Amino acid sequence: MKLHGWGRYPVVDATVSHLVREQSALQLITNTQQPLTIRGLGRSYGDSSIGSNVIDLSLQDRFIGFDQTTGLLECEAGTSLHDILKLIVPKGWFLPVTPGTQFVTVGGAIASDVHGKNHHLDGSFSQHVESFRILTGLKEILECSAGQHPDLFSATCGGMGLTGLILSARIRLRRIASSDILCRSLRAENLEQLITLFEEHAASPYSVAWIDCLKGGNQLGRSILMLGEHAKDGALQVAPDSAITVPGIFPGAALNRATITAFNTLYYHRSPKSTAAQRIAYRPYFYPLDSLNHWNRMYGHQGFVQYQFMVPKSAGSGAMRKILEAISASGKGSFLAVLKTFGPGNGNDLSFPGEGWTLALDFRCDSSVFALLDRLDAMVLEAGGRVYLTKDARLKAADFRRGYPNWERFEATRARHGAHGLFASAQSVRLGLL
Ligand SMILES: Cc1cc2nc3c(=O)[nH]c(=O)nc-3n(C[C@H](O)[C@H](O)[C@H](O)COP(=O)(O)OP(=O)(O)OC[C@H]3O[C@@H](n4cnc5c(N)ncnc54)[C@H](O)[C@@H]3O)c2cc1C
Repeated sequence: MKLHGWGRYPVVDATVSHLVREQSALQLITNTQQPLTIRGLGRSYGDSSIGSNVIDLSLQDRFIGFDQTTGLLECEAGTSLHDILKLIVPKGWFLPVTPGTQFVTVGGAIASDVHGKNHHLDGSFSQHVESFRILTGLKEILECSAGQHPDLFSATCGGMGLTGLILSARIRLRRIASSDILCRSLRAENLEQLITLFEEHAASPYSVAWIDCLKGGNQLGRSILMLGEHAKDGALQVAPDSAITVPGIFPGAALNRATITAFNTLYYHRSPKSTAAQRIAYRPYFYPLDSLNHWNRMYGHQGFVQYQFMVPKSAGSGAMRKILEAISASGKGSFLAVLKTFGPGNGNDLSFPGEGWTLALDFRCDSSVFALLDRLDAMVLEAGGRVYLTKDARLKAADFRRGYPNWERFEATRARHGAHGLFASAQSVRLGLL
């Protein structure tokens, strides 16, 4: 079948096997003639979960245990965050860290070491993983944690499915008293104002800014900062799923500078200058994009790439300003981009976050976009930053190594656990991780 990531670029021909029972995993990796690519729900944007020989874990989704007093949850690796929320929210628990969609698996969340709107306080997903079980290339199942096989734990969290097959995991959840979020929106006229606002509200449990990347000059970085915290009282309700679906692939021309500028301007002015806290359900706060099923079809047949990078605080806001200027001058960035602050990194070999700022935005694939992204890579690396692998579809191997200086340690751990030649993806081949 034809297979792609969430960005619908690139597309490969693949044979896909579904893992339903854990017992068949060993047989699968023993009998395989070609390297295996592990796939969860395919929400990574680029080519990290595609290859010619794919093993799909999304049906391996059973709960194993849930201690309602301590909030320790154990489940198979293909369980989605959506299904976990359905189980835990009514019982007064929430995910400790969640990305901007609930349609990712636990295995995918560990393999990308995903972050949420609370990285500045709570770090990334793996920091809340008590342990996981992994089937390695040496055909053994190991229980890994920060204290047990720490080398494999550190390589697997953020390791993009290249160290082995995560089978199940135990996660420490967060207590909540209500499923609602108290949300406050603040307008920032430009990047400098936004960074000041982030600093002033550093104690806010959740924060994220929607930024208009088409604005330049003294409006560069014009944005809306959305702060959030769990309400202290109220009901514990699971948010209903969206019933709206993008019916087919949009014509590419529907998204152009004029339509995007109009959308961004409307969005900015719709938000009042500064608001008192509003009570909203957790879904529109954490997962606004989940309200439109298959929204990735809006970028047309050629698909899109999401570009997410981080620059360290030590490089100063000037580094982010320079990159934003280049994006704004290109006129190519689409819709509103997302800017967040990161707390310190966690030392895993390939985890993306590090103390600083991160920006994510989409670019519709066209002939000129890749040259622009190469230029942005150079600026990001120059500032001491890196590009997020779970969004990537085109980074060069040499630039990957500069951004992820622990790649050699990662490769040494893979070698010790028999991963080379067995676990790979279109991305790993491109990045020279064979
Ligand atoms: C709308 C949207 C918003 C998002 N927001 C954020 C965000 O805020 N923060 C963030 O960090 N990310 C974000 N993401 C990215 C997403 O969280 C990650 O790409 C995540 O890894 C996807 O999980 P998945 O189950 O779909 O994995 P896939 O996309 O199928 O796979 C991702 C990687 O995980 C590996 N993998 C999957 N399962 C296993 C397993 N069982 N064992 C070993 N390796 C495995 C794959 O090989 C691949 O390398 C967002 C994505 C979307 C579409």
